[in-house]
Order: sequence, then structure tokens, then C-alpha cells
Amino acid sequence: MNIILTHDIDSIRKPIRHIWQRRNRYRTKDLILALMGLKNLYNNIEEIVSLEDKYGFRSTFFTPVFLFNIGEIIDILKDIKKQGWDVQLHYVYEPVQTLGLFRMQKLLFEQELGAVEGVRTHMLIINDTLLDMFQHEGIKYDSTLRTETAGTFDPYMIREKLIEIPIAIMDADLFGRMQLNEEQALKFILWKMRYAEQKGAKYFTILFHQESYTMKGGRIYEKIVKHLSTKNYSISLPKDVLNSKVV
Ligand SMILES: [Zn+2]
Repeated sequence: MNIILTHDIDSIRKPIRHIWQRRNRYRTKDLILALMGLKNLYNNIEEIVSLEDKYGFRSTFFTPVFLFNIGEIIDILKDIKKQGWDVQLHYVYEPVQTLGLFRMQKLLFEQELGAVEGVRTHMLIINDTLLDMFQHEGIKYDSTLRTETAGTFDPYMIREKLIEIPIAIMDADLFGRMQLNEEQALKFILWKMRYAEQKGAKYFTILFHQESYTMKGGRIYEKIVKHLSTKNYSISLPKDVLNSKVV
């Protein structure tokens, strides 16, 4: 089975007040460093990259251009792209002038980071109109649907020229919607991977938000990566799916 590791970048900083109000989410050491201004708990891109690199893994970061000033992390993004990580567009849906604002996001992304091959919509908002728009605007794949919605773990043609790469696991579902603790979440993820394998799935896509990497819940990502390194899985990028023609 191929594992596709992905991270959405919903934010890269929060005010100290926000962090203090959520202080029980963090390790004491991280909290102290954050309060002293020595550590930004909401920008973990480089930490994630160095964790994955330890095991020779590469992943895809979906970055928005509408949620914060992309200039703040552009150097990091360009640098990780050179090292084999992929960076694609985290599209922010707007109900008015939808097409125009999609094009604006794509254009700004492309000015700095090259052609947009794939998109994932912020808040996982998706419908037929958006899928039609992605195809029409030359996007090659979408990765917004959950596997439960898609009815499959594997990538498939959702439009004539648009591949869907469904999400098998998202951190926000585990800790938000299901309200699992870390131990339960890890157990569920490992079980779901085995379940997918038994069903004959060739792909299994995981989404952990980059900003949750130091938080309670999100920090199990490190354990997931360690677990993957002990198994016979291939770690793939969505662009490997595009090249493999298995869909
Ligand atoms: Zn998002």
C-alpha cells in the first residue's frame, strides 16, 4: 500500500493570548518557550520536514494564499520544494465571485511556487460546481473528499481530466468530531490502515495540519511516521499518482 502524507497550513502564528487560553494543549516546555517568544508553536513546517526526512519520507503541504501573508513562509516553501517535498494550493472557497477569486489564488500561488497541479479546499468544502471549476481551470487532482464520501481509498477519475485523491485520515476528525484521545486515535488509524489493506486499497492518504504538530492530538503524527517506517509501505506523493496511470 502507498501512503500519501499531507499537511494543510491553516495558520502560521497566533497571538500569545490565544496560546495562553489554550495552554493545556501544549507541553510545558513548548509553552514556556512560546511565552518567552523563543518558539512559534504554529509554524512547524521545518520540524515536520526534518522528522519525515529522518525516515526518507516526503509529503505534500497544501498552502493557502488567502489566510495569511504567504511571504512569511515563502522561503521555507521554496526550500522544501527543492528537497523533494511538494507544495500545492489550499484553496479558500468564497461564495461570491467564486471563479474570479479561485483564479486570483491560483495566480498568486503560481507567481511564487510554480504551476498548481493539485488543490485541497480549506474546511474541505466541495461540490460538483467546484470540481467542474477545478477541471476547467486545468487542475490535475483534488484531495478534498473523505474516503467515506468517495466510497474508496484509492485515487479515481472524478471528472474526465480530474483525479480525486480521497483523505482516509484527518486529525481534525479524530480529535474534533470523534473526540478521541491520543491513544484511541492512534489505535483507530492503525486499524483503519489494516482495514484498507484488507479491502485491497492501493493508497491511503493522511492529513495532519502543520499547526497542530506541537499540540495535544496533532503530536501523534510523530508516532504515525515512526510506525510507517517499520512497515512495508511506500510513501508516495500525489504527483506519483498522476504519473502512475493506475486510475
Ligand atoms: Zn484548511
